[in-house]
Amino acid sequence: MALYVQKYGGTSVGSIERIEAVAERVARTRNAGHDVVVVVSAMSGETNRLLDLARQIAPDPHPRELDVLVSTGEQVTIALLSMALNKRDISAISYTGSQVGIKTDNSHTKARIQDIDGARMRADLNQGRVVIVAGFQGVDPNGNITTLGRGGSDTTAVALAAVLKADECQIYTDVDGVYTTDPRVVDKAKRMEKITFEEMLEMASLGSKVLQIRSVEFAGKYKVPLRVLSSFSDGPGTLITIEEENAVEQPIISGIAFNRDEAKLTVKGVPDVPGVASKILGPIGRANIEVDMIVQNIGVDQTTDFTFTVHRNDFKKAIGILEEVAQDLKAESVVSDDKIAKVSLVGVGMRSHAGVASTMFDTLAAEAINIQIISTSEIKISVVIAEKYLELAVRALHTAFDLDEKDVQEEHYPPAP
Ligand code: ASP
Ligand code: MG
Repeated sequence: MALYVQKYGGTSVGSIERIEAVAERVARTRNAGHDVVVVVSAMSGETNRLLDLARQIAPDPHPRELDVLVSTGEQVTIALLSMALNKRDISAISYTGSQVGIKTDNSHTKARIQDIDGARMRADLNQGRVVIVAGFQGVDPNGNITTLGRGGSDTTAVALAAVLKADECQIYTDVDGVYTTDPRVVDKAKRMEKITFEEMLEMASLGSKVLQIRSVEFAGKYKVPLRVLSSFSDGPGTLITIEEENAVEQPIISGIAFNRDEAKLTVKGVPDVPGVASKILGPIGRANIEVDMIVQNIGVDQTTDFTFTVHRNDFKKAIGILEEVAQDLKAESVVSDDKIAKVSLVGVGMRSHAGVASTMFDTLAAEAINIQIISTSEIKISVVIAEKYLELAVRALHTAFDLDEKDVQEEHYPPAP
């Protein structure tokens, strides 16, 4: 019999009816003879409601007190779910993070898990109990309640699965898996059966927000098989796992991620001499602005153009800094554009296949979409294009790389010859 850690997110426990439905699902797994540890989020909207209460008292409350406050959301859900299981004659017990020994550092509101003592959970499991743990929270070395950052229940679940050596960590959510791209943009996007940790990290950091990024890092590091699936329907979901050797049928491209959150800045006509990149990006870094893509052109007439992208929220601040830097460097001008989007192909199959980039560029050219910046890594190719072409680009690439969901009708009833 297996041990599963099942995590249910806010929407999945958003009402009494839904908590009852979760209890049914947990009971089914338990009655099939498996051991189950359940991690739950606060009921949907609850964490935001609590944060809003705090803000009505003070604009900037002490982080320690914020953690005491927001951790209560999950405490409500664990107790209700435990009651719902007991009502079904399933023996269950609820625990807060601190009760179950989830030890973190003391960075309130963004704490990191340092150690988990699995003994108490193991003892309960051995007694045949379902163990229900509050997600998103832990306790620091001085006994203060801490929280793990928004979406942190995913990380709690993965960490528990790692410590307990669970057979699988199942993240139940309101979508039925991870898709090849956002189905709101491409209606032929399809659910992936499998994706590697590495690919998932790229997809997640590029804005596919199914899982907290840190939980994926954690799962990859400790090799916890992770599955994303729907709490509203039955289905296999998407398995996130390590890359298989000799994965013959590995698709070249697994998914297409995109992001509209960036803006582009160029300093034109900077001297082509050592130290210029550092003079430009130094002040940007000191202002705590994160830089994503960086491009420097080949020098012409002892000068060059230097381009980089930042988050749109930092756009104004970055322009201000650059204008000063440009003056110091006697550069020609600063030009900027915040109507851009980044589109990225992600796939471990790229490692063993040539020609991915040229197919990408051909496809964009055929749609007359201009590429402004290109950057590549081992398993990713990203381009920056004008934002107005984003949807068109993603759809065209989805088709070009054969990711479109086939017409279901056609698959089941092939037309008569
Ligand atoms: N309740 C927390 C949040 O809303 C943690 C979680 O749901 O994972 O961010
Ligand atoms: Mg969540």
